[in-house]
Amino acid sequence: IVMARGVRKSFDRAEVLHGIDFTVRSGEVSCIIGASGSGKSTFLRCINGLERIDGGELVVAGSHVGYTLREGRLHEWNPREMARFRQRIGMVFQQFNLFGHMTAAENVSCAAVKVRRMSKAAAAARTAKLLDEVGLSSHAGKYPHQLSGGQQQRVAIARALAMDPELLLFDEPTSALDPELVDEVLSVMKSLAATGMTMVVVTHEIGFAREVADTVVYLDDGLVVEWGPPQQLITNPTHARTQAFLSKVL
Ligand code: ATP
Ligand code: MG
Repeated sequence: IVMARGVRKSFDRAEVLHGIDFTVRSGEVSCIIGASGSGKSTFLRCINGLERIDGGELVVAGSHVGYTLREGRLHEWNPREMARFRQRIGMVFQQFNLFGHMTAAENVSCAAVKVRRMSKAAAAARTAKLLDEVGLSSHAGKYPHQLSGGQQQRVAIARALAMDPELLLFDEPTSALDPELVDEVLSVMKSLAATGMTMVVVTHEIGFAREVADTVVYLDDGLVVEWGPPQQLITNPTHARTQAFLSKVL
């Protein structure tokens, strides 16, 4: 569902992605690890079209991100086409990004009502189901400031799920949380993975990667240095840089 070949991205004249090769199949969980500044967030933003790539090939959910091939020519998407694409890709950020003036339930349902054009009743039923899945049924009426960080992040996950995404991207979903709240979010992500949701997760939680990922990718300075199943990459990394990184975070 994600196929990247030689993806390059520059800001001004500084290239930060130097040719990323990356593949995720439907139903797989891929974890991206790597030092700060290695380009993890930038690459995720390319996958959902928030950044435009400068070179290489990036196919997500059947589309060359940003372009349609028509009559042998590439046409750049207009804002509506881009918006339609983004609706198919869920994203969960480090900083939750909930709407502060809306309750948990409203945060989850507004996407479904506005974007999916669901009836209010259908959206309410779906919202209740999603909040139940993330263990927050009894908090539906609370505002973000009345919820813990872990609860807010679980609302954010439910909101992303409300769009029925084909792919869910996570950018360090637990790094802003107090340590005792990390597990409740990881366990929601684990059960999501078990339902077959396709996920790309940027994380420093090596234990999560080891347990849940089908593939782990180590990104170093804008390049994929090593990738493989967690048993291999985490337990037996072959590259000196991967070894050095893991010895710091483990
Ligand atoms: P972290 O672990 O700290 O989140 P990261 O691996 O996600 O790091 P990125 O945020 O992708 O790294 O940044 C990669 C590089 O690109 C950094 O050198 C950063 O300064 C640069 N960069 C990212 N976004 C922009 C931008 N909008 N404009 C200019 N430079 C940027
Ligand atoms: Mg980042």
